[in-house]
Amino acid sequence: MEDRFGRKIDYLRISVTDRCNLRCLYCMPLEGVKPKPRQEILRFEEILTIVHAALRLGINRFRLTGGEPLLRKGIVPFIKSLTLLPGVRDISITTNGILLTRLGEQLKEAGVQRLNISLDTMNPEKYRKITRGGSFHTAWAGITKALELGFSPVKINVIALRNINDGEWADFARLTRGHPLHIRFIELMPVGTSWHLVGKNFASCSQVRSEIEKRLGKLTPVTDMQGSGPAEYFHLPGAEGTIGFIHAMSSHFCASCNRLRLTADGKLRPCLHDRREVDVREAVRSGATGEELQELFHKALQLKPANYHEATGAPVTGRGMAQIGG
Ligand code: SAM
Ligand code: SF4
Repeated sequence: MEDRFGRKIDYLRISVTDRCNLRCLYCMPLEGVKPKPRQEILRFEEILTIVHAALRLGINRFRLTGGEPLLRKGIVPFIKSLTLLPGVRDISITTNGILLTRLGEQLKEAGVQRLNISLDTMNPEKYRKITRGGSFHTAWAGITKALELGFSPVKINVIALRNINDGEWADFARLTRGHPLHIRFIELMPVGTSWHLVGKNFASCSQVRSEIEKRLGKLTPVTDMQGSGPAEYFHLPGAEGTIGFIHAMSSHFCASCNRLRLTADGKLRPCLHDRREVDVREAVRSGATGEELQELFHKALQLKPANYHEATGAPVTGRGMAQIGG
């Protein structure tokens, strides 16, 4: 499937829940977000019907996210059903890792290979502050478990936060020496609840890279990184893992955008920074045919802007990443 700008769209990020067991300060308001009533959230069978339509359009890679996807009851059997759909090429998960020690093995058996785990600090006290109550040790145990179980690649998403985790950027990079971890620094995006942080806490990937190079020496580019999407990858001499930079706030990122998002309440969202969405939930609930659902995908594609400068903008009080599906 191609959009108006010739970008090949073959990737769908599916938010399976808007609930979360953490309250990261850039993602959720302090008081948390009132979760949508259960009847507004897509049932797993409904997601499978939507995925079926997506597959017919050549969308064959899927990432499960949220909220915290591992919190959703029935996630493992759902993934098993997803892997059985003919044409599914890849299923990955983005998680905060808190439930990985409990569910890692079952996820592996269900057919998940690749995991992205979010971790913004290795300091337990700071972790508690950033996530508003989470346990670093539990998240770290989840990462260790993922490596033990042989998930590959295991990517660690680190939001670059000036004045919060800037003292640890080089420490994260060092982790790639002893572990086959792919550390990815992500620029803070002004979405939903993070607007107030951007002025004080935004750091660009080039700032992160120069800080790392100042401490650890020049990074060598990696060119053959699989499924690299919009990230640029580097490595330290002799390291097992890599260091990636996701310039989330550059148009270069938009030019290679290959995705659509499906929100937990059943809206196709063409762009993170654009408030326009296409409702598929009502269609699927009223028994739309495969062709009718495919039509809605085409409609969403038509709305996909060239880049975030052309997007209608996510309103300041709009859905945060946990609602949209980061
Ligand atoms: N709960 C899971 C997790 O934290 O990995 C999955 C959902 S979370 C919304 C997905 C990713 O979005 C995480 O890596 C998180 O750090 C990132 N994220 C959330 N808000 C963000 C923001 N304002 N800018 C950039 N990334 C953000
Ligand atoms: Fe939850 Fe992930 Fe958002 Fe943190 S980033 S509050 S873990 S959804």
